[in-house]
Amino acid sequence: MLSTRVKLTATFVVALVVMAAALFVSLLTTRNASVYGDLGQSASTQADLAARIVVREALVGKRIMATDDTALVPVMSAGVSGILDAIPGYLVAYDTAGRIVYRSPSVLSLSSRDNQTLQEQLRDLPSSGQALLFELDTLKEKLLFVSHTVSERPGGISRVAAGLTTSRARNVPREYIVNALFLTPVLIIAAGAGAFVLLGRTQRQLAHITHEVAAITDGRSLHRRLKPTEATTDFDGLLTTLNAMIERLETSFGALRRFTADASHELKTPLTVLRADVERAMSDSAAQNERMIALEEALQEVRRMTDLVESLLTLARADEGRFDVHREPVDLLPLVQEVYETALILGEAQGVVVNMPFTADVTVMADRTRLRQLFLNLVTNAIKYTPAGGKVELGLGRHPDNVTFAVRDTGIGIAAADVPHIFERFWRADRVRSRMSERGGFGLGLAISQWIAQAHGGTLTASSRLGRGSLFTVTLPLPVEAERT
Ligand code: ADP
Repeated sequence: MLSTRVKLTATFVVALVVMAAALFVSLLTTRNASVYGDLGQSASTQADLAARIVVREALVGKRIMATDDTALVPVMSAGVSGILDAIPGYLVAYDTAGRIVYRSPSVLSLSSRDNQTLQEQLRDLPSSGQALLFELDTLKEKLLFVSHTVSERPGGISRVAAGLTTSRARNVPREYIVNALFLTPVLIIAAGAGAFVLLGRTQRQLAHITHEVAAITDGRSLHRRLKPTEATTDFDGLLTTLNAMIERLETSFGALRRFTADASHELKTPLTVLRADVERAMSDSAAQNERMIALEEALQEVRRMTDLVESLLTLARADEGRFDVHREPVDLLPLVQEVYETALILGEAQGVVVNMPFTADVTVMADRTRLRQLFLNLVTNAIKYTPAGGKVELGLGRHPDNVTFAVRDTGIGIAAADVPHIFERFWRADRVRSRMSERGGFGLGLAISQWIAQAHGGTLTASSRLGRGSLFTVTLPLPVEAERT
């Protein structure tokens, strides 16, 4: 299996080779186009020169044409053709009847088959200066011809065609070959080696980070963080992200550990009491009424445990998002009235005065049972943590875009440092956690209450002063139509 480093380097080198090849082909194509342009230009200049010579010679009165004695066909006079012979390349001149009257020495040196081809090709050559490219078989060479019309037709010459070989275009220049065969490969190899070295460095840095992360996340070292070092310079951003993730893991693992320890602790105590009660009831020496008292106590423990397990189940389902909130229009006034009446009874038993100075007639979209549970939690807490002689006040208020249910008490209050923790699971100000205390709760009520408020799109907030009392406020959103009215 090839390593990622080798694969990436190979991909990079292949990409460079393809790019270099594409560049080379495009350069050659551009160069050839320009060479053909130049050749056409040179051929055109030669044709023009030949035409001018003929015109000049005619002007000075020289004989342009002569008759070939043997073939009895018109040919160019020896004087003029002698001058034209000095022009390099392939040159052919035509008389007004379209017959070839002059062939330059290079044309004459061609084989008869090539001469035949040349003649046929040039017959179709346009006189507009357009270039014609064709191949001569025996010469194994491509020729580029340009024709030139002689305007005044001096001495019967109507057209001159000049041609050049295209070997210059075919021959790739030396510098191109050096570039393609030597310089470019050397550069590609150097770039590949550079990429390989850089990738090795990156790979080492990643291996270092992987090793560190593995050491941290083995479960016991979550307090450790990744430190940016020389060995990880390219990955500072990744380190920050990983550190944030490890911090979140540490927090949630800690919470999970605390939660498990707290839950087992809360279950252990009632189970011990339950066992003691059952043993007491089963003892042979116990009198009938003692047995009844022990069983009564056992029943109470079972009730407490049932409450605890129900609360834990509610929170677990809420965490998983499995708890459905069945929303329906709920008229809050009768619901709050009902909670108030329960509070009156509880308050009376505790010697706490309960009143509800203001209410409002308002309907919200909510789960009635859950809302009742939330309001009752707050009211029972207020009464539970308010000594006899204190006061508890309930209030239902309607505002432009929300509705609030507030419970204020003049009870023991909560220390400022503790307020941020009261919604945590199993948190109780009473650290001794004496379940025998008359206020013995599990510290889950507010966590559940906050979840209920949030599940309704609302909030539950608390403000409190130690020894002065507390204020808990539930804020719920109004249904959209109600907001407008
Ligand atoms: P508990 O069942 O223990 O009452 P909660 O989650 O309802 O659990 O409350 C958590 C803790 O918050 C309580 O143990 C108590 O210390 C504190 N608390 C809640 N409500 C009040 C209040 N009205 N006045 C003072 N302390 C309160």
